[in-house]
Amino acid sequence: MHTKRSRPRLLVVGGGIAGFSLAMHALQRFDTTIVEAEFQPGYHSTGRSAAVFHIAFENDTVHRLSLESESFFLDPPKPFGTIATSLENMMIAKTEEQDVVDSFLDTWTGRCPWLQRLNGRDIVRRIPVIRADFRAGVLDTRSLGLDVHTLLEGYRRSFVDRGGEIMTNRRLVELDDSLGHWKASFAQGDYLEVDIVANAAGAWADEIANLAGVQPMGLVPRRRTGLRIQPDVDFKNWPMCYRASGDLYFKPEGGSIMLSPADATESPPCDAQPEMLDLALAMNRLHECTTLNIERPHETWAGLRSFVADGLPVVGFAKDHAGFFWHAAFGGFGVQTSPACGKLGAELLNGDSSTISMNVSKHSLSPARFT
Ligand SMILES: Cc1cc2nc3c(=O)[nH]c(=O)nc-3n(C[C@H](O)[C@H](O)[C@H](O)COP(=O)(O)OP(=O)(O)OC[C@H]3O[C@@H](n4cnc5c(N)ncnc54)[C@H](O)[C@@H]3O)c2cc1C
Repeated sequence: MHTKRSRPRLLVVGGGIAGFSLAMHALQRFDTTIVEAEFQPGYHSTGRSAAVFHIAFENDTVHRLSLESESFFLDPPKPFGTIATSLENMMIAKTEEQDVVDSFLDTWTGRCPWLQRLNGRDIVRRIPVIRADFRAGVLDTRSLGLDVHTLLEGYRRSFVDRGGEIMTNRRLVELDDSLGHWKASFAQGDYLEVDIVANAAGAWADEIANLAGVQPMGLVPRRRTGLRIQPDVDFKNWPMCYRASGDLYFKPEGGSIMLSPADATESPPCDAQPEMLDLALAMNRLHECTTLNIERPHETWAGLRSFVADGLPVVGFAKDHAGFFWHAAFGGFGVQTSPACGKLGAELLNGDSSTISMNVSKHSLSPARFT
């Protein structure tokens, strides 16, 4: 039975980085439960990311959300452990790709004055195995490598220590608002009654909107492939490296190098798996731009990055339902913007936009921009 309570009840659907960062902040005002379909939080996109933080990334809004998140990574509050390590980030270009370097610097140098133009010698000094036809580049000295497991665990502990509830192995299958509040039913047979549903279901976010009878956002999940290789060279001080052509990046990660063909193939929401073609492309491109002699990766995986048409997150109450909140479409930046997006989402959930500190227009993230 639904009884009137002093604190409204919030159900966060999705136990990835988006759901946890939102729920941690939302606890201040709501009795909050996170439901996650899998046995383990972070099983989908969150657990499959490249775990990097770039400030000169994507577009102005993602840039601002990232800048706002930087201090959290560098000086995390308790109970978070160390999340970030310094990581240089180097773009490399062939002579015919020089215009990509120029346009990148034109776009970003004003906002990121620490960016440096590089020549071929600078590039080879940093990564000796890069082939000589890469003669131009850019160095970003203010990127970070992130420990996603520690970050997610910090959100989890902070949430649970302050009374938040997590239910794993609970797939939401039905949302019914006919009694004036939500009855959320799970595939496992049980249900919860709540006042607000927050949709942080990653690639499944439009499916959750359909369950609620709310207009979907046209979310497109795109598969991205990751590989790990273990070359027989000393790579521990290499920067992250990405090709100006946008079809390869690689970076040192402990005892391995992680690389990706930077694929973005449309996919239905699913437990994404790597395709042979993408793995072969990644290895070919690596051989094209380095002298590394590696036959096969020792680990491969894939995950989904989910975007709406303008490439920005969707954060805010649905225009067509006062009890349905969007927190989705975090593309390839959901980890690095999670501190700012979680805080911003909770402020909007509270209906308290006056405290929104970052210089991001609420409207640019609002679901209403699509209606
Ligand atoms: C290869 C790769 C590299 C990336 N690199 C970076 C990077 O370097 N930096 C960066 O910031 N980002 C990166 N990203 C993007 C980042 O991983 C995502 O933006 C982020 O993880 C999205 O988090 P999320 O919580 O929205 O989604 P998810 O982590 O997918 O969480 C959504 C959760 O919702 C659950 N769910 C779905 N439907 C239901 C239901 N009906 N009931 C209950 N639960 C449900 C799912 O099981 C899932 O666990 C990368 C992604 C990939 C794939």
